[in-house]
Parts: sequence; structure tokens; C-alpha cells
Amino acid sequence: MDCIFCKIANKEIPSTLLYEDEQIVAFNDNAPQAPTHVLIVPHHHIETINDLGKQDSALIGHMILTATQLAKDLSLAEDGYRLVWNCNRQGGQAVYHIHLHLLGGRNMHWPPG
Ligand code: AMP
Repeated sequence: MDCIFCKIANKEIPSTLLYEDEQIVAFNDNAPQAPTHVLIVPHHHIETINDLGKQDSALIGHMILTATQLAKDLSLAEDGYRLVWNCNRQGGQAVYHIHLHLLGGRNMHWPPG
């Protein structure tokens, strides 16, 4: 399968990982949209968040808790940050392997673009 996030998560292409365990990895986005822009990505290939089921509840919880821990570690927690899941075309999804964006270090706008 030609999936860039599978290749990063499985270390087929080099990347500096900010966090890794048996379920997920976290690394910097290569086109950052904020001073801090980290992606939290599962090893397991799931195309979109539409494909999640009850069996993925623990994985999704783990991704969110890892993002909040990274936000603390990266000194974003007090000022605030944003977690984003993009889904399909109108949601702005470009990579079809689920990932959670952690964005911080600037004021975020609402409504989002
Ligand atoms: P999305 O639009 O939600 O699918 O987000 C995909 C994100 O992956 C974008 O923010 C891209 O900049 C980022 N991205 C794509 N390829 C890479 C890569 N090789 N390393 C790091 N980030 C990437």
C-alpha cells in the first residue's frame, strides 16, 4: 500500500518522532500551519474517521490523551491549542490515513477556514 503515513509509522522512511509506542507515532507536520504543528498517527491504516468503529474507542482516546500530553510537554497547554480531525474532501483531508493535528503557538480563528 502506497501510504506515506504507513511508511513513516513503520519507519520505512526516516522521520523525527516526538513520541512512539506500539499503537501510535507523533511527528512534526512538514508544512506547518502554526508554530507548533504535530500529527498523531496510528500504525494501523484506517482511511478516514468515518471508518472508525467501537473497537477503535481505546485507540482514539489514546491519540487524544497523547496529544494533550504533548501539548503540556511543548508548553502549549496554558495558552491553549487546537486539535483537528479532517475528514474527506470537504473536511480538507489530504492524507487518507487517519491523523490528529495538534496546532499551537498562535491565536486560532473561529470559524475555521
Ligand atoms: P490532512 O489535510 O488533514 O489530511 O493533513 C495532512 C497533513 O499531512 C498536512 O498538514 C500535510 O502537511 C502533512 N504531511 C503530508 N506529508 C507529510 C510528511 N511526509 N511528513 C509530515 N507531514 C506530512
